[in-house]
Amino acid sequence: MSYSVAIDGPAGAGKSTIARQLARETGFIYVDTGAMYRAMALYFLRQGIEPPEADRIAGACKEADVTIVYEEGTQQVLLNGENVTGLLRTEEVGNMASASSVYPEVRMKLVELQRKLARASDVIMDGRDIGTYVLPGADVKVYLTASSACRAKRRYEELQEKRALGSMTLEEIKADIEERDYRDMHREFAPLRQAEDAVLVDSSDMTIQQVMERIRSLIRP
Ligand code: C5P
Repeated sequence: MSYSVAIDGPAGAGKSTIARQLARETGFIYVDTGAMYRAMALYFLRQGIEPPEADRIAGACKEADVTIVYEEGTQQVLLNGENVTGLLRTEEVGNMASASSVYPEVRMKLVELQRKLARASDVIMDGRDIGTYVLPGADVKVYLTASSACRAKRRYEELQEKRALGSMTLEEIKADIEERDYRDMHREFAPLRQAEDAVLVDSSDMTIQQVMERIRSLIRP
């Protein structure tokens, strides 16, 4: 039986930073499920499909093949065979991922891939519905959150560092984050919420090291 750690929470709470570091320490595979939703979003953008075109979204799901490979331990996302990993972390793709991830066709397709990865290896998987829907039997479940002001500031700095900020202001990023939270939490199918058996970690006033220590203490393979 493989071991799984589920880390869920809203955007910018620090999930990927923590999950990546934990994976390095434990030797587990890090599965970034947001990148899968972003790859689908990139496909929709390229096809000129916009929510709420539900029929076209469902149709496109049959044409878009998302697969995951690991290069030197780092997840690479292939979209119909093309490595799109470097194209996924923009605000445009993020906004489209948020809008298109409400469709059950999109979710079911990716959930199947996520479960397959968790069956094959020990994983640290981050996302929105991992503990509640994708891996309800996960060995460790964490709900990692932080205030929206704090998450917006982190996202702003991250984009600035990557020179991907464009003309966006901190206020716009905060508004985007709040809109995404709302959509993630209120969608009908597998919304973002804390699983009953998940440990709540609020990282607003914690350093990465403190969050790491807290979560590390929960992992006992
Ligand atoms: O985490 P990240 O910002 O990369 O996720 C992009 C979008 O994909 C989120 O805004 C969310 O709507 C969606 N998502 C999801 N379920 C997951 C992971 C991401 O709905 N497990």
